[in-house]
This record gives sequence, C-alpha cells and structure tokens, in this order.
Amino acid sequence: MKKVLYPGSFDPITKGHINIINQACDLFDEVVIAILKNPNKKNFFFEGDERLEIIKEIYKDNPNVKIILSDKAAVDVALENDCSGIVRGLRSVTDFDYEIGLSQVNKDISSGRINTVCLFADSNYQFISSSVVRELFYLDKDVSKYVDDVVLEKINQKRRRYNGT
Ligand code: ADP
Repeated sequence: MKKVLYPGSFDPITKGHINIINQACDLFDEVVIAILKNPNKKNFFFEGDERLEIIKEIYKDNPNVKIILSDKAAVDVALENDCSGIVRGLRSVTDFDYEIGLSQVNKDISSGRINTVCLFADSNYQFISSSVVRELFYLDKDVSKYVDDVVLEKINQKRRRYNGT
C-alpha cells in the first residue's frame, strides 16, 4: 500500500489544497495530511486544533485520507506514518524554486529515504492561496469561491467575532 504525506500549514485549507489532495488520492492508496508548524509563519489565523477539526470534517467520509497535527519535521512525520514520500503542490515558478530546495533538504535529512512528488494545481485553482483568503477576510470580502463550506462557516464565525456582531 502506497501512503504519501501532504504537509503544510493549511491556514486555512483552500480549494487549491483540496485539488492537490484529490490528485494525490488518485495516485496513492492513502494520503496523510500533516498540519505542521511553519517556523516562518508566526501569526496564525486558525489554531492548529481548529485546522485539524476543519480538515477532519471535510474528509470525514473519505477513509483514504488521514489528518494529523504535529510540530515535528515533515520527513519524521512521513517516516513515522510509513509514508514513502511527500506531496507538494506547485502553482508557479516561485513555488518551484522554493520546493526544489525543500525537496533536496528533505531527502538529505532523511538519509535519502524521502522523495518529493510535485503536483500541479488545475488552472482555476492556481491563484488560490491561504494568504489571499486571509487578506480577503480582513478586507471583509467574500471567500466562498476559494474555500470549502466547512471553512466558510468557520470564517463567518470568526468574522462575526472580529466585527463584534
Ligand atoms: P506551507 O506553509 O508549507 O507553504 P501551505 O499550507 O501554504 O504550506 O501549502 C502546502 C502545499 O500546498 C505547498 O506545497 C503549496 O505550494 C501547496 N499549495 C497551496 N495552495 C495551492 C494551490 N492553490 N495550488 C497548488 N498547490 C498549492
């Protein structure tokens, strides 16, 4: 059975991430989504536990998708969960430049055990990012086209708290 790890911040998970997860599900027997702490991202939008709850709800009817929250390195999470590799999504050459370095580091620190597979978002999802969703939230704009209904509901709750209504 081929298991693969899809690590990221998912703050919040977008339809771009979901597009990559769907593609990974077509290619592998099991996809383990790992919500990891990104040391470069200090201010989070949703707490780790909330992100875990959201993604679990989205995939509650899919037995081939497992979700975990961890503060370990992606390669260690991959090895602990018997994943033979890591999946990452590519949107642009900027992603490519970043991901090629990351894939080499991950291979190196796992003593050659963990390879990375890059998948390309379908064109209508290519421009979606968690940071765009967060910015639109603070501008009081509709994000329903970019996120699943489970995320939208959580964002609307957050908006009501943010606006004090
Ligand atoms: P990270 O904090 O590691 O950048 P993200 O949650 O932002 O994590 O993204 C996880 C992975 O999903 C990364 O490989 C990122 O490039 C990819 N990704 C994010 N949004 C999209 C999208 N719209 N299309 C394709 N891949 C995406």
